[in-house]
Amino acid sequence: MPEDPRDWEIETRAVRGGMARTPYGEISEALFLTQSFAYDSAEAADRRFGGEPGFIYQRFGNPTTQMFEDRLALMEGAEMCRATASGMAAVQAALMGLLKAGDHLVAGRALFGSCRWIVSNLLPRFGVETTYVDATDLEAWKAAVRPNTRAFLVETPANPLLEVTAIGAVAEIAHAAGAKLVVDNVFATPIFQKPLALGADIVVYSATKHIDGQGRVLGGAILGAEALMTEAYKDLLRHTGPALSPFNSWVLLKGLETLELRVMRQTQNAAKIAEAMDAHGKVRRVIYPGRPDHPQAAIIANQMTGGGNVIAFDLGDRAAAWNFLDALQIVDISNNLGDAKSMATHPSTTTHRSMPEAERLEIGLTEGWVRISVGLEGAGDLSRDVNRALDAA
Ligand SMILES: *Cc1c(COP(=O)(O)O)cnc(C)c1O
Repeated sequence: MPEDPRDWEIETRAVRGGMARTPYGEISEALFLTQSFAYDSAEAADRRFGGEPGFIYQRFGNPTTQMFEDRLALMEGAEMCRATASGMAAVQAALMGLLKAGDHLVAGRALFGSCRWIVSNLLPRFGVETTYVDATDLEAWKAAVRPNTRAFLVETPANPLLEVTAIGAVAEIAHAAGAKLVVDNVFATPIFQKPLALGADIVVYSATKHIDGQGRVLGGAILGAEALMTEAYKDLLRHTGPALSPFNSWVLLKGLETLELRVMRQTQNAAKIAEAMDAHGKVRRVIYPGRPDHPQAAIIANQMTGGGNVIAFDLGDRAAAWNFLDALQIVDISNNLGDAKSMATHPSTTTHRSMPEAERLEIGLTEGWVRISVGLEGAGDLSRDVNRALDAA
């Protein structure tokens, strides 16, 4: 009996899951840089178009892309994964596939900037209304439900202040309302949190972040049960065309091989940096999901197996935050995250600048906050760099 890859440890799934070797026996997965595919006969083409397994056209699927999808699905514990050209393509398709004119969405109010744009500006054009809630408040989710609520959207931990939502409890509220729960799992990664196992219906990723993790390509993914994925997304993705390119699929496939190693080391480094920040007099507050003083530490203990590599900290005002960033010598000033290279950003003037100030204040995002994505540099060098920059703040 061949082993079932679903029984493998996550490290084994990351390296071997989804591999479809060609007759050449290559060790590194093949890059199929091809738009279309030829059929042995007119009858074979007829059968393929009629639904027989096999490839037709790159917009529908590609062997390299499928290896990435199958590997990520195995790592997530999902029945099915569909890759997209970016994280935003995944979020947009995830919502469009579940909603139609006249439907209502409930969304956590702390969302990645472009996700907020889709929810606030794009969905209303198609007749979908949204209620934003404080995602940590279960009563608020319940109170937001309407008879036409069809989907819930939450990012947890959320950008940039890393608030955490109880996925299981929110899934129950969604299901009682006849709605599907979509979780943006970017900050936790498949290594630390499995939303589907906790009750979510759909998981989305920006693979641009930790899955690449080396600053090269954009990518995204939607994961869930096969029946829902087929019903909600098969035709939508085929006909609207957010397909991930074979080259980017290959880069991300190779990224998955080292995802666990990288995320574990980044997280070790982040724990040390969070400690150093907490000990420094200039830091008013540190928020890190790996610390017992995180506001939702009890929920984290229930649903995450690690704190991740992102830390938010408050230096009081914009001048102190900017002084900190400008004094860094190793860590880059950059808005990306999950990379091998550590990066720090000032959310209120960069990633969240398009959010009206009143809404920023609602999520607690004042101008003193800095977000750092801790990378793979030596922990000693990073601590020295951060401490020096804090002195300068
Ligand atoms: C980056 C990010 C996205 C968007 O992904 P892209 O690959 O940049 O399109 C969506 N959600 C979260 C939480 C992100 O961090």
